[in-house]
Amino acid sequence: MKKMKKGRPVVLADRDGTLIRDVPYLSRIEDIALLPGVAEAIRDLNRLGIPVALVTNQSGVARGYFPESFVLESHSRLMELLAEEGATLQGLYYCPHLPPEGEPSEADPALSRYRRVCGCRKPGPDLILRALADLGGDPARSVVIGDADRDLEAGEAAGCAQGYRILGEGRESALHPSLHVASFAEGVEHFLAFLEKGGSSRED
Ligand SMILES: [Mg+2]
Ligand SMILES: [Zn+2]
Repeated sequence: MKKMKKGRPVVLADRDGTLIRDVPYLSRIEDIALLPGVAEAIRDLNRLGIPVALVTNQSGVARGYFPESFVLESHSRLMELLAEEGATLQGLYYCPHLPPEGEPSEADPALSRYRRVCGCRKPGPDLILRALADLGGDPARSVVIGDADRDLEAGEAAGCAQGYRILGEGRESALHPSLHVASFAEGVEHFLAFLEKGGSSRED
């Protein structure tokens, strides 16, 4: 029987430690630097017509470390750096929230709207579900690539067939994702091979 393809494959990429250098609560534009091989890998996906969406937790907003406008600014900078290499992202999704029990709020009423339980903070699935919906993605043919277990947990919660965990030096993972990889670029390589083999690990 012919397989029904419900949608197209999408690559869902974490930001910090995946596409750009990991700087905890990055709050200076000049600290944004693409990791090696990232621009080339995204350019390859662009050429193949496979959408790439950024999905990132930015609780620094809720913590009062930087305003939400900085997240947008940093994403403009990221897009600029990618454009210099002929690469682009098809979606940028972020969660600015933090559950109220996380850290004491600075008692700043401006932050109270960010201090809440939400479904978009990874490992919640909402950012990924939104990206898949916007881009016409089929979760069974899509992959999450990230450097934290919660990235992959979010992908699993959203029904993504594949999850590749970037393991840096001295980093460990409690999960058993489809694959451990050394970089985003290596993850993309594996994903393209997965698509080549049929691209769906789910029974249709
Ligand atoms: Mg990360
Ligand atoms: Zn959220």
